[in-house]
Amino acid sequence: MRIPQMIPFFDKLEKESISEYMDSNPFLTEFNKTNDLEKMICDFTGSKNAIMVSNGTLSLFAMLMIKGIGAGDKVYVPNYTMIATINAVKMVGAEPILVDVEPETLCIDITKIRTPVPKNARAIIFVTANGRFSKLGHEAVSRFAAENSLLLLEDAAQSLGSFYSDGKHQGTKGVMGSFSFSVPKIITMGQGGCIVTNDDKIAQDLRVFKDFGRFRGGTDDHPFFGVNLKITDLQAVIGIAQMSKLQMRIDRKREIWKRYSELLSNNKHISFFHHDLELTTPWFIDVLAKNREGLIKHLEGKSIGTRKMYPPINRQKSVAISGSFPISEKIGEEGLWLPSFVQIKDQEIEEVCFEINNFYS
Ligand SMILES: *Cc1c(COP(=O)(O)O)cnc(C)c1O
Repeated sequence: MRIPQMIPFFDKLEKESISEYMDSNPFLTEFNKTNDLEKMICDFTGSKNAIMVSNGTLSLFAMLMIKGIGAGDKVYVPNYTMIATINAVKMVGAEPILVDVEPETLCIDITKIRTPVPKNARAIIFVTANGRFSKLGHEAVSRFAAENSLLLLEDAAQSLGSFYSDGKHQGTKGVMGSFSFSVPKIITMGQGGCIVTNDDKIAQDLRVFKDFGRFRGGTDDHPFFGVNLKITDLQAVIGIAQMSKLQMRIDRKREIWKRYSELLSNNKHISFFHHDLELTTPWFIDVLAKNREGLIKHLEGKSIGTRKMYPPINRQKSVAISGSFPISEKIGEEGLWLPSFVQIKDQEIEEVCFEINNFYS
């Protein structure tokens, strides 16, 4: 049996919830179920407001839009991230400034941002990479942003179930934080995104923006500019079912990471990034692997799926920005995601590690 790198996890609950919902004269589009899901996300993250949007790319776009960031502005983004982070900046017409990441956490290295920052630099999109946060700590990052008049926006797409050192949920230190519920993420509803914020005014503006610039559905007065970033209650029903199993998923993700790190601890060719498993939830098992191409091929031959970690953003053909980014470049050469799905069995993890150790021996 093939061991894939990633497959979604769901059980009877999602199916039964959908079936029950369809029997309830459903509205289908965003309505009460979406509100319920937003409340669950508020409770879990300790955030005052949660606003569901279509996906974790458009949530970043909406965060920038609502703050009026656009043409002529610059936004700092890490050179190691999913392409969506930088493309959201491009989407509003602003210019991304790529910054290399910390080798320990793969989060943007704020010490590499040249100060004083240019006048038109407006924000940092801080990506909490695989649930990790800057080794400098959240106070230092917040202080840096404040001292340089930069908005701190968090791309916490990979961080549901991950907390800062003070126990607060990631995504909540910035003015806004963004989550994604695409298939590989900690929980999924196929597609979906969410913005959390403690600022009620921003929350209200976001709700208006995501619904064509009007105050409520079923009316055609549009006092503001807005687009359609809504989800559907069909997705929310799945999301609610997934949220109800979130703690189990978090526990399992942490166990999976522990198993891998134990079984590969004597392997000099594989190195792990630090994870504080009390606070953070590894979304994917990310490692640096020597002779990555050889290992991928070997594992593929044993029907074990892997995925290369994000290549450096600046080297993407659609981006092509020159510069020296040694850490993200190293990730681009050696970074590898191992099978990381919630329902993977211990025995399968052992098999994967056996094959990895085998390859290097
Ligand atoms: C997944 C991801 C996104 C994009 O989210 P979608 O819901 O797929 O649009 C953005 N940023 C990061 C860091 C991600 O991991």
